[in-house]
Amino acid sequence: MKALQYREIGASPEVVEIPTPEPKPGEVLLKVTAAGVCHSDIAVMSWPAEGFPYQLPLTLGHEGAGTVAALGDGVSGLAIGESVAVYGPWGCGRCVKCAAGAENYCQRARELDINPPGLGSPGAIAEYMIVDDARHLVPLGDLDPVQTVPLTDAGLTPYHAIKRSLPKLTPGSTAVVIGTGGLGHVAVQVLRAMTAARVVALDVSEDKLELARKVGAHEAFLSNAEAAGKVKELTGGIGAQAVFDFVGVAPTVATAGAVASVEADVTIVGIGGGTLPVGFGELPFEVSVKAPYWGTRDELIEVFELARGGAIDVHVETFSMDEAPQAYERLHAGTINGRAVILPNG
Ligand code: NAD
Ligand code: ZN
Ligand code: ZN
Repeated sequence: MKALQYREIGASPEVVEIPTPEPKPGEVLLKVTAAGVCHSDIAVMSWPAEGFPYQLPLTLGHEGAGTVAALGDGVSGLAIGESVAVYGPWGCGRCVKCAAGAENYCQRARELDINPPGLGSPGAIAEYMIVDDARHLVPLGDLDPVQTVPLTDAGLTPYHAIKRSLPKLTPGSTAVVIGTGGLGHVAVQVLRAMTAARVVALDVSEDKLELARKVGAHEAFLSNAEAAGKVKELTGGIGAQAVFDFVGVAPTVATAGAVASVEADVTIVGIGGGTLPVGFGELPFEVSVKAPYWGTRDELIEVFELARGGAIDVHVETFSMDEAPQAYERLHAGTINGRAVILPNG
């Protein structure tokens, strides 16, 4: 089968021919319908050899949807041909976090060497993929897999972040979304669907700002040195009650801190390496700063329900398997508006 692999530190990912995997006991083989392309993979492919956490070659893709192709021994409850999406942050299934559905914070994943597909385990940008356990599959029913696959990360991650801040997003409040790319343009829609907050979007690209407005941002303007002042002005000097930074570089986390109101939540989702000093007098009183990872199993089901109700419309650009390397090049160049989705089986 064809797969997109990151094979050598610093090299571009390549489409290669590898053996089609067979499911071992307890596993599920999916024929991949659609796989999303996340900016985190670009970060992974920029990491140096020293301390690189995964084995190479690595089949990329941590957003996957497909149809059930074969069941390993002992797997039941899934029908061959059923349309499913993959919950990516795999955990042990047994620790207290996994028991609560928060496999993204599994206490034993590292010790047991359990890795998400595309981030350690063979990923979704392949004609077939192995899913380690049926509990990591969510039935899609009538949801279109191509439109829905980005929700497994670009939907779930912002949803998780936003859900934690819902009590602060009362009518009259303001939420700021920094970076309205794959994750951010879904964040705007989740905020509009779940809160009465005014949503302000910031990006460096006019195309992305246009998309942010189209999907529901009340205000959208350039992310630059003046942006924080504009948000303060819009809020009568008070600031935003929640700020979601989907870039996470030094200038954006600085903006995030500068626009925060007293008691605001600042959530740094982007992995750009920026840091925000916390300490008395550094930020308005009682600001909380967090840097979450992905989301929980129950939240993925909730995100799909939001989509089923029509509240989320992911802006998708599709690519064939052979075009997959170009999807990464385009994402790196900042010219994907919304989410790139690979169709490994055409
Ligand atoms: P993307 O490339 O689709 O979107 C990034 C957006 O940020 C683009 O629209 C870009 O124009 C914009 N941008 C760049 N610099 C900016 C700046 N200075 N100010 C404002 N906007 C700016 O990327 P994505 O796939 O949506 O991922 C977003 C970030 O989230 C990445 O850092 C990714 O690694 C990270 N991520 C984190 C998690 C997590 O669990 N914490 C999960 C998925 C992705
Ligand atoms: Zn991702
Ligand atoms: Zn666990």
